[in-house]
Amino acid sequence: PVILGIESSCDETSAAVCADGVMLSNVIANQTIHEAYGGVVPELASRVHQQNIIPAVNQAILNAKVNKNDIDAIAFTRGPGLLGSLLVGVSFAKSFALALGKPLIEVNHMQAHVLAHFIDEPKPQFPFLCLTVSGGHTQIVLVKDYFDMEVIGQTNDDAAGEALDKTSKVLGLPYPGGPLIDKYARQGNRNAYQFPEPQIPGFDFSFSGLKTAIMYFIRDNVAINPNFTQEHIADICASVEYRVVTILLNKLKKAAIAYGIKDIALAGGVSANTGLRQGIQELAAQQGWNAFIPRFEYCTDNAAMIAIAGYHKYLQGDFVGQDVAPLARMPF
Ligand code: ATP
Ligand code: MG
Ligand code: FE
Repeated sequence: PVILGIESSCDETSAAVCADGVMLSNVIANQTIHEAYGGVVPELASRVHQQNIIPAVNQAILNAKVNKNDIDAIAFTRGPGLLGSLLVGVSFAKSFALALGKPLIEVNHMQAHVLAHFIDEPKPQFPFLCLTVSGGHTQIVLVKDYFDMEVIGQTNDDAAGEALDKTSKVLGLPYPGGPLIDKYARQGNRNAYQFPEPQIPGFDFSFSGLKTAIMYFIRDNVAINPNFTQEHIADICASVEYRVVTILLNKLKKAAIAYGIKDIALAGGVSANTGLRQGIQELAAQQGWNAFIPRFEYCTDNAAMIAIAGYHKYLQGDFVGQDVAPLARMPF
């Protein structure tokens, strides 16, 4: 089957086409308008989705070299995400499906981040553990089957990506800060400054204490030397990134041992991070486990992951009707 995937949960408008599970195109329109505000402005995101959705879908169909009548089903992100953003993708998917006379497939955005592992080889074997780290989520997911997933650990407060984005704000870097922290971290010493590792029971996380510790650290040092941040940006970024990575991987390791699982995977926007990618490879090598990391363009928000999730739902005959509505919160 040929599946069109549509993603509009946050600030990326994306469309992708896959045929029998092979990805033919993946068009991502990034929204730069939010940089001026230091974070995503929901009302603006929704408006830009409206401008970008038709060009993105057109381009995805063109790049895939298919005809729109070849499409067998339309998969879309139903949630979780910003309601105004989701509404644009959901409404478009419903209208297009109605016009083409094709079925609709709803996709959970967080499940889709995990299913990004089934776009390219090598693919993990069930059951595996997936550390899903993004701007809004930090989860350890026990993946038993394509749509049989259980969150065994999650953050009690901030997400890992949020912690990086907030840190970058304190450092005076533009939004989104994750990629810039990554860039500076490569030139710094990760042991330059010691930030605390929270003691949280089980497989859960907390990043708010770390965020506060970083804020006070910057404030106290800037009081002594006003140029502290600029002079030590690489060491600060390397140390912050290293702490975030160790917090994440120590919990993943603990979970993998507890569940006796040898296939460990990364998903979500923060899995684009160089330190985290290296860290999970080292952990796997040290333990004799297998590490799986999706290609860069499938880590941050994209429609390819929606299309592949849609493909597996299509095989199960799992469709929804025209009465479907977006969900800002959507558990598995
Ligand atoms: P969610 O998926 O939880 O709804 P989201 O859609 O905003 O949230 P993604 O697009 O999956 O999240 O990820 C965005 C996050 O990834 C941001 O916090 C961003 O800073 C972070 N990020 C992107 N690239 C990197 C990188 N190289 N290093 C660290 N963080 C990164
Ligand atoms: Mg985004
Ligand atoms: Fe996401």
